[in-house]
Amino acid sequence: MNFRLTRRGFIASTAGFIALHPFSARAAANQAHLRILETTDIHVNVFPWDYYADRASDTVGLARTAALIDSIRAEATNTFLIDNGDFLQGTPMGDYMAYEKGLDGSTVHPIIAAMNTLGYEASTLGNHEFNYGLDFLMKALAGANFPVVSANVVTEMGATPTADKTLLKPYTIVTKTITDGAGAEHQVKIGLIGFVPPQIMVWDSANLTGKVQTRDIVETARAWVPQMKEAGADIIIALAHTGIGQASFTEGLENAAVPLAAVEGIDALLTGHQHLVFPGPDFKGAEGVDADAGTIMGKPAVMGGFWGSHMGLVDLMLEQTADGWKVADHMVEARPIYKRNEDRSITALVSDVSRVEEAAKADHEATLAYVRRPVGETKAPLYSYFALVADDPSVQIVSDAQVWYMKQILANSKYAGLPLLSAAAPFKAGGRGGPDYYTDVPAGPVAIKNVADLYLYPNTVRAVKITGAQVKDWLERSAGMFNQVSPGGSDQPLLNPDFPSYNFDIIDGVTYKIDVSQPSKFDKDGKLANPDASRIVDLMYDGKPIDPAAEFVVATNNYRAGGGGNFPGADGSTIIYVAPDTNRDVIVRYIVEQKSIDPKADGNWTFAPLPGTTVVFDSGPKGAQYAGDVKGVQIAPAGDGENGFARFRITL
Ligand code: MN
Ligand code: MG
Repeated sequence: MNFRLTRRGFIASTAGFIALHPFSARAAANQAHLRILETTDIHVNVFPWDYYADRASDTVGLARTAALIDSIRAEATNTFLIDNGDFLQGTPMGDYMAYEKGLDGSTVHPIIAAMNTLGYEASTLGNHEFNYGLDFLMKALAGANFPVVSANVVTEMGATPTADKTLLKPYTIVTKTITDGAGAEHQVKIGLIGFVPPQIMVWDSANLTGKVQTRDIVETARAWVPQMKEAGADIIIALAHTGIGQASFTEGLENAAVPLAAVEGIDALLTGHQHLVFPGPDFKGAEGVDADAGTIMGKPAVMGGFWGSHMGLVDLMLEQTADGWKVADHMVEARPIYKRNEDRSITALVSDVSRVEEAAKADHEATLAYVRRPVGETKAPLYSYFALVADDPSVQIVSDAQVWYMKQILANSKYAGLPLLSAAAPFKAGGRGGPDYYTDVPAGPVAIKNVADLYLYPNTVRAVKITGAQVKDWLERSAGMFNQVSPGGSDQPLLNPDFPSYNFDIIDGVTYKIDVSQPSKFDKDGKLANPDASRIVDLMYDGKPIDPAAEFVVATNNYRAGGGGNFPGADGSTIIYVAPDTNRDVIVRYIVEQKSIDPKADGNWTFAPLPGTTVVFDSGPKGAQYAGDVKGVQIAPAGDGENGFARFRITL
């Protein structure tokens, strides 16, 4: 296709007219339109492929984001591509490179090789860059054909940030030749400075203690930005691998973008880390933030999703003044690689860029073999056919792994002496997913990709501290899964079809019974419906009735701990530990480390007996082979259910 710029600000092509960006159309002789392109939180996603499900995915992949980058470059005069960190870890390809293949002086890491094809001006470090240790990180960075800057990771602390010895260059100043509205070329000096959450010292203490230290993001910026100005930077862009959080400054903020934006001299911010999209509704109403315009403290800022889902785009109208180039106007957009349709299906909006895939192809294929290969074995079959009616191995293993992980984390904390419980819910449990929508991994070898089946969502681990009374209410909330049953009745439907299985949390570490003859205390949305109702009976810790005032730590995920499902004791205020690791990664590590697992359900919960009462529920027909093995409940086949499901009967 041939493009030709017309006088009215349109590009004429064989396909018709494409409207030029207003800044390009409007730029005068002393003005230039500069487009900053951001990728962030790519997490080793090069191919549009979900390694856990082992199938193509239209929602991920730098090879797709690259199509947006290419098309922007085709339509704009001056562009500037930057990555905002968290590129090295997060898919099995990252694990494969770190744990299997390794890096020597001659290998280029596949994510770096893919990025090298795109002509990045710079990148910064995200917190996950430290997950495999400093040695691996430095070897990976050696393959990059772009600079990587980071101002607040320090190898030798000085009296002030500018006196520090930093792990990488704190900033770089790129001299960019740009074309103004009249077609004349100018040199603009663009300063790029990088920041990472200082919490890496906690999250990766084993890799970092004694080797580096971190400084507060905002304090570091306040010290370095004037020096960058002195060194000649016209424009300063913060490569801030941090999220958009509170507006007021307190030292050590993880999500520091708002107070960072207030630092004088910073002209634009690239943000990330939260895996959200900005501008957009996620940040509506946040203090100091305009979630429609894409500004923070009045300055343009963007967050380009995660795993390649979006490209962040900051359009700057630059203007030449007596003291150099300044930002005169700005527009911000996060451009997606796919759209979600009303029926929840996905439509890809771009196609793969093959030169990006080629760069990582050999390691991608080796990773496919890696995820399909056994990493450990399970002595018990892992199925979820009866996860809603009995303690279940597919939920048990999640809790076993969460407890294993959290015990190590809390060992040296002030919470080490508190009882540690774990909450987990069945994710694949039929319902609207259909009669085949169950976890079903036979006893024997377990491959990494099987773990996806056990844990569908990329949640991250959290711990909350709650009381015994809140433990009970948490379980009361879960017990809304069941319809109220009349004692003595027969074949009453047990499961509430409007109650999603992911809100049926089992809490391990306590024992309890659920009395379905009682009304549910909470409705399906978690609203208090019957304040005096109690379905949870015989709730015990350590064989003794639970003390309502006692304190417990519960391992769970970010969704639940942050208020997802409206669980009592889980509204965000009770969180005591925010882990950087996904629950899925924790399960993989648990299996790799244990080599052989035996996640037989421990039967810590059952239904309270209701003599002469039967109930029915539907599950996958393939569950019939296991029905007799389920402990603590009597399950018998009861013919066919609807839509391909099998029906089962429980005698309570
Ligand atoms: Mn990330
Ligand atoms: Mg259990």
